[in-house]
Amino acid sequence: MASVSVKSNLIGGEWRDSADGRENRNPSNVADVIGLYASGNAGMVDEAVAAAQAALPAWSTSTPQQRFDILDRAGTEVLARRDELGRLLSREEGKILAEGCGEVARAGQILKFMAGEALRNPGDVLPSVRPGVKVEVTREPVGVVGIITPWNFPIAIPAWKIAPALAYGNTVVFKPAELVPGSAWELVDILHRAGLPHGVLNLVMGKGRDVGQAILDHRGIDAVSFTGSVATGRTAVATVAARGGKVQAEMGGKNPLVVMDDANLDIAVEAAVNGAFYSTGQRCTASSRLIVTKGIHDRFLAAMRERVSALRVGDALAKDTQIGPVVDERQLAQDLRYVEIGKEDGGKAETGGEPVKHDNEGYFMQPVLFSGTTNDMRINREEVFGPVASIIRVGDYEEALATANDTEFGLCAGIATTSLKHAEHFKRHSRAGMVMVNLPTAGVDYHVPFGGAKGSSYGQREQGTYAKEFYTTVKTAYTA
Ligand code: ADP
Repeated sequence: MASVSVKSNLIGGEWRDSADGRENRNPSNVADVIGLYASGNAGMVDEAVAAAQAALPAWSTSTPQQRFDILDRAGTEVLARRDELGRLLSREEGKILAEGCGEVARAGQILKFMAGEALRNPGDVLPSVRPGVKVEVTREPVGVVGIITPWNFPIAIPAWKIAPALAYGNTVVFKPAELVPGSAWELVDILHRAGLPHGVLNLVMGKGRDVGQAILDHRGIDAVSFTGSVATGRTAVATVAARGGKVQAEMGGKNPLVVMDDANLDIAVEAAVNGAFYSTGQRCTASSRLIVTKGIHDRFLAAMRERVSALRVGDALAKDTQIGPVVDERQLAQDLRYVEIGKEDGGKAETGGEPVKHDNEGYFMQPVLFSGTTNDMRINREEVFGPVASIIRVGDYEEALATANDTEFGLCAGIATTSLKHAEHFKRHSRAGMVMVNLPTAGVDYHVPFGGAKGSSYGQREQGTYAKEFYTTVKTAYTA
């Protein structure tokens, strides 16, 4: 019998053979093994850093056209394979097929946008305050960048970190999340075949506490871009900063959606259902706190109860599924535990909150909507990262805004209103990095900055032209 080949790590342009690999299983059907993926270690991180350092002088002085061509070619392939890669993504992560394919398309668009950024890296030329002297301000790559990504966006987050890193001339050591190595492996394979010189992009799959920790600790890594949980993100920031490295971390959210008395009810319900529950609520921008003023509260609750109870939970690859499974057993247990905590603290589960039986064995649960909650309850303070949302009833706009801001997080905040006055005031006074008016809190564009305030994010923004703030460093040159 032919043995199943293990998808291997890429170091210095070579795919490393690996005898044994970790199983990548489908959360919609745990009997379905997608493949075996190599698990690296700290020694491999050393080798990957050495390869990235060796590749840096040539890559950082390559022409923008060379970098454009490679990123653009990779983007073209990703877009052409949208359906196939979208299926792989949904199979390993559990978001529904439309979302999986959409995410792949997004990765392709990011690669193409960042290809253009390689050509658009302007500096400044200024007259000096001293006579006869010219001052130039230019942007240079930071060096070797470590990239650590979470499981909830298996291809988009790797793309939005790797693409700008490469576009601005950095070399990369990349560690994807253990639960979703498949999409990450395909992305690296595509970039490798698109013509990246050896060592420019290195892939070391494996455990966070081994490979991830080695990336944080490694003095040869000049900058680390991390997305994941609050606890790990704080460790990443402290560890990298302590050794003098540059670091950005994108962590949790407890994002509010304010629904005002004057809201269009259909728009508000649509924004809430999408923002809270799509992608099984596993988005850092998900709106888990629905802050509703008293005049619309009962109508909003009734409409939400009807919509949420009708959501079809099932196999991510099945055509009529609206909500796929939770990513794994541990996350399902956490979601169900928070349902119990919500009830114990006095919330009322209006609908959902139970595991769902299915033909396949998978991690299915019915989305849960709580009512009668207050902002000090644990379900409104801690990030659950599942299909769990709660309604908080408030008196007026001022109370809604204060409640929305009363959180340690600040990634995204939304408001549903027809009042220009409230919309404008909310945009200005919401203490979040991103604000949505009459839109779901989740769902952002790739050509504008992404990131949060307070405990949600640390360091520079990601995406769009702002990505250069992290992936470049500024040099000031004086010429007499
Ligand atoms: P989650 O609980 O959602 O998996 P984590 O923050 O644990 O979130 O994971 C995000 C990424 O960080 C993953 O790639 C994971 O492997 C990695 N990671 C986990 N622990 C560490 C660590 N101690 N050091 C570096 N990376 C880690």
